Amino acid sequence: MNDVAMDQPINATGRVQPAPGQFVIQASRLAKIYKAGKLETPVLADIEFQLQAGETVAIVGASGSGKSTLLHLLGGLDLPSAGKVLIAGADAFALNEKQRGALRNQQLGFVYQFHHLLPEFSALENVAMPLLIRRTPKADAFKAAADILGRVGLGHRLQHKPGELSGGERQRAAIARALVTRPACVLADEPTGNLDRHTAESVFALMLELNREFGTSFIIVSHDAELASRCQRTVHLSDGRIVVPQAVPAL
Ligand code: ADP
Ligand code: MG
Repeated sequence: MNDVAMDQPINATGRVQPAPGQFVIQASRLAKIYKAGKLETPVLADIEFQLQAGETVAIVGASGSGKSTLLHLLGGLDLPSAGKVLIAGADAFALNEKQRGALRNQQLGFVYQFHHLLPEFSALENVAMPLLIRRTPKADAFKAAADILGRVGLGHRLQHKPGELSGGERQRAAIARALVTRPACVLADEPTGNLDRHTAESVFALMLELNREFGTSFIIVSHDAELASRCQRTVHLSDGRIVVPQAVPAL
């Protein structure tokens, strides 16, 4: 990895990275009701959530408790039924779709349980893509992509296509793609859910290392309480509400 290059701004968007202590994401009185015809499915209610620059937060809860829905709202990907989300201070849902897309592109990176890498492109091309989309000059985009791929341990796999990578390598490439734009926050929805224990551990550890190294905040949805506990803070969702776990009374 070229340390000097990684310390330079990778893009020319002029985004100001929130400083430590500033909020990257603030959500208040957030609610989500899915509506299909007359059928209403209330999924989230009364969500209050704040994420500081540089923080790592795990979101845990049973399947169906609303974790993915919450992550989508916090990332400005889906509209809430009520409440507000501020991303780097901007009211995400007061913006139009195009402005919200630009805000997401500048501030956030996303990682999913399935890598969503484009199968016909190499790891290098996949990771360079978010920069090419924002018209970063090709040479700069590929340089930045190669640097971050080196950092996630894939410097020897630049020309491999996703089908030629292992599950853990694909998730590392997906993390590199999320970070290549140097977002303020990465939102990851069960990023290790599809990996064996050992690989899950190393991919999770990588995200926490990158958090420390780049100051990028991470919100990580995880089924795995042990991995989640390595984040600075855990948010427990139960039936669409944030709950404070009750201490088990001593017998
Ligand atoms: P989790 O990620 O915690 O498993 P989700 O946020 O995916 O939970 O889903 C929470 C609840 O919302 C589930 O009961 C699910 O069936 C419902 N749900 C999710 N997406 C939709 C949708 N597009 N339309 C209707 N209901 C949905
Ligand atoms: Mg989910």
